[in-house]
Amino acid sequence: MKTDIEIAQAAQMKRIEEIAEDLNLAKEDWEPYGHYKAKLNDQLLHKLSDRPDGKIILTTAISPTPAGEGKSTVTVGLGQALNRINKKAIIALREPSLGPTMGIKGGAAGGGYSQVVPMQDINLHFTGDIHAITTANNALSAFIDNHIHQGNVLNIDPRRIEWKRVMDMNDRALRQIVVGLGGPVKGVPREDGFNISVASEIMAILCLADGLNDLKERISRIVVGYTYDREPVTVSQLGVEGALTLLLKDAIKPNLVQTLENTPAIIHGGPFANIAHGCNSVMATKIAAKLGEYVVTEAGFGADLGAEKFLDIKTRAGGFEPDAVVIVATIRALKMHGGMDKKELEYENVEALQQGMENLKKHMETIESFGLPYVIGINKFPTDTDQEVAFLKQWCESNGAEVSLVDVFAEGGKGGIDLAEKVISACEAKEGSLQRVYELDEPLEQKILKIAQKVYGADGVEFTSKAKKQLAQFEQLGYGNLPVCMAKTQYSLSDDPSLLGRPKGFKITVRELRASVGAGFIVVLTGDVMTMPGLPKSPAALKMDVTEDGKITGLF
Ligand code: ADP
Repeated sequence: MKTDIEIAQAAQMKRIEEIAEDLNLAKEDWEPYGHYKAKLNDQLLHKLSDRPDGKIILTTAISPTPAGEGKSTVTVGLGQALNRINKKAIIALREPSLGPTMGIKGGAAGGGYSQVVPMQDINLHFTGDIHAITTANNALSAFIDNHIHQGNVLNIDPRRIEWKRVMDMNDRALRQIVVGLGGPVKGVPREDGFNISVASEIMAILCLADGLNDLKERISRIVVGYTYDREPVTVSQLGVEGALTLLLKDAIKPNLVQTLENTPAIIHGGPFANIAHGCNSVMATKIAAKLGEYVVTEAGFGADLGAEKFLDIKTRAGGFEPDAVVIVATIRALKMHGGMDKKELEYENVEALQQGMENLKKHMETIESFGLPYVIGINKFPTDTDQEVAFLKQWCESNGAEVSLVDVFAEGGKGGIDLAEKVISACEAKEGSLQRVYELDEPLEQKILKIAQKVYGADGVEFTSKAKKQLAQFEQLGYGNLPVCMAKTQYSLSDDPSLLGRPKGFKITVRELRASVGAGFIVVLTGDVMTMPGLPKSPAALKMDVTEDGKITGLF
C-alpha cells in the first residue's frame, strides 16, 4: 500500500470554493487561503444561530499505544462513510502540533484513504494559527518582563510568575531556563520555562471562545502570576488584552478543508489531551453542527482524557452535547493491554486479547456513565486474524455492545458504512441528557476525586503539600467553581504509564495545580506528566525531506 503522503499527493481535491458552495456558504462567510484552504468568518456562528443543530458524534478511544489507535483516521473515514450514504456530514478536527509531527506520533490528519487534505499543509504550518498563538503567548511574556524592568508598578513578584513562554516543538532543553541575564539593560533575571504551544492557555482560550469579544474577555482574565502580597495579577491589569486579541484576529477564524473524498472538514485549534483539554474549537464544532446533518469530531487519547474533558469542559463552554460516541480500539493495542510485548503485536494471541478487553470495558463504562449511546469501532489492521476478530465480536455481543469492524484506512468511506449506519441508530437511541462527572459548585478537591474514582477507577487521590496549598488558595480566590482539566499520562488509566489494562488498587498523585482563569479551568498535574515533551532518540524528522521541485517525502 502507498504511504499516507503518496495517497494524499494523488488526491483529487476540489477547489475550496466548491467545498464552500457545497455547504451553501455565502461569499462573505469565508475567505480563500490558497486554492484548497479557507478561513471561515468568525461571525458565521452568530449568523447561523437560528438554524437547528445537526447530530454531534464524538470519537474517542481506549488507552492508546504511542502510535495512536486511529481516532483521527476513523473520524475522517466515518464522515466520508456518512456522505456515501447521503447524509450531509462534516468533520471537526484539531490542528496537529509540530512537536509530535517531528517527533514520534505520525501525522494527525488521519491515515491511508481517510485523510484530510492538503495533509502536508495541515501537518506543517497550515494557516499559521499555532504560530499566532505562540506569538500572542510570548508577547505576553515580553510585556510581563518589560513591566518589571520599567519599574514594576503592579508589584509583580518575579518568583511567582506563572506565565511561561511557549514554542510548537518538543524541546526539553527549554523546560527550565533563566531569563534577563546580562546586567540592568537586559532586564530583571528570573526563572522561566517553555511549554509546548498546544499546552498554552491561549490555545485553550481560542478553543473555548465563541468569537472575538469572548476571546478578549477571556484573555483579560488570565492570571499571569502573583504580587509580593500574593494577589493575582491579570492581563487586564497589564492592559494588553486588546493587543493580544489583535494578534489572534485571524487565528480565531476556523479553517475549512476537505477529506480525500471531498467531505468538508473544519480544522481549528489543537490542544493536547494529556496536558491540555484535547478538543478542537467550540466554534468549529458548533459551526459544523449548523452546516451539516452530522458532525464527527474527536477528542484526544482515551476516553479517560479527551472525552472526559470534552464532556465536562468543552460542552459546558459551548452549551451543547453529543448524540453518540464511537470508541475506537485496535486489536493490537488490546493485546498490548493484555500483557503482550509491543514488538510482538503482529502475532495472533487471543488470550492476550481477552485479557486486554478490560481496558475497553472501563472506557465503555465511562461513556455509559455519561449517559451516552456508543458504538465500538475496531480499526482494522492487516495483522488482525480471523480468530481475533471473531473473539472480539463475540465479546461485544455478550457484553451488550454494538461493534463495527472499520476499514476506512484501506478503503476510505466504503470501509466505514457499517459503522455509519450503527452510529445513526445510536444517535436515535439517545435518551435523556448528558450526565457529567461533577457539578461546578462542588469543591475542586471533590471534582478531582470524582474523576479519579469514576473515570480512572482509582481508590483515591493524594495531594502533595504544594497541591494542597494551591487548592486552598484557589478556593479562597474564588476559582473553586471552575471545571478541572486533568493532566495525566495517556498510556494508562492511572498516572503511571507502565500500568496497562485496567489497573486496580491505585491512587492518583496530584503534584501541582495551575489556574487557567482565562480558559476557565484549573489544570491538575498528576504523576510525571510534562507540559513540554522531549524528542525521541530517532525522531520522525529523520525520514523527512523535500526536493528542489517541492515534492515532500517521509511525512508519514
Ligand atoms: P489517533 O488519532 O488515535 O492518534 P491516527 O488516526 O492519527 O490516530 O493514526 C495514527 C497513525 O496510525 C497514523 O499514522 C495512521 O496513518 C496510522 N493508522 C491508522 N489506522 C491504521 C490502519 N488501520 N492501518 C494502518 N495504519 C493505520
